[in-house]
Amino acid sequence: MTEPKIEEVLEHIWTHEEEFGKRASRDMVSQWIDPQVADAVLQDMLRQKLVHMYNSLIVLTATGRKEAEQVIRRHRLAERLLKDILAVKHDTMDSSACEFEHFLNDEVTTSICTLLGHPVRCPHGKLIPPGECCQRAKKILRPLVLSLLELTPGEEAKVAYITTEHHPRLDRLSSMGLLPGTAIRVHQKQPTLVIQMGETQLALDEDIARDIYVRRSH
Ligand SMILES: [Zn+2]
Ligand SMILES: [Zn+2]
Repeated sequence: MTEPKIEEVLEHIWTHEEEFGKRASRDMVSQWIDPQVADAVLQDMLRQKLVHMYNSLIVLTATGRKEAEQVIRRHRLAERLLKDILAVKHDTMDSSACEFEHFLNDEVTTSICTLLGHPVRCPHGKLIPPGECCQRAKKILRPLVLSLLELTPGEEAKVAYITTEHHPRLDRLSSMGLLPGTAIRVHQKQPTLVIQMGETQLALDEDIARDIYVRRSH
């Protein structure tokens, strides 16, 4: 099975071009993956017409570029998911995202992208290649998922996710019943933000409210 290796090499080629603005070369492959299999993997990629060689330079074909973009997209979305939703620390995030990306099929990738509100950049600040879902979302003028702070009094929404990195804060919010899926209504914004959840009214600090993402009920 060279498939995960191929994805890894595609990812490296793409990142190399992104970072240095030039093509990767044949000898780099054995630095990226186990040199024992580097040649076999490259041969496989040539056979599958993902790349072709120009002297010792590796050139992505249209198919190869498309596939590489998908791998990058999955990787960077996985990073966002791990960081924003699961609040995983930076060093763990890097290795987990690499493992994770290989398990994401198109459907799951689209769901994650939509859940995260079609993010443009990964936590490292690099661009996430957009998918079809992102193009479609652009046409909708009102974003589906937005920060609780952006709602106006009287507006109703459901909690989509909470991005806070502070676990105690997250625990406190969930113990108050503020969980993904909870329906809320903005009661007032001045002098303090107060939201209504069922029978309960809850005053929230601005910096907490900023971390709470909601989906508007239309
Ligand atoms: Zn990243
Ligand atoms: Zn998207």
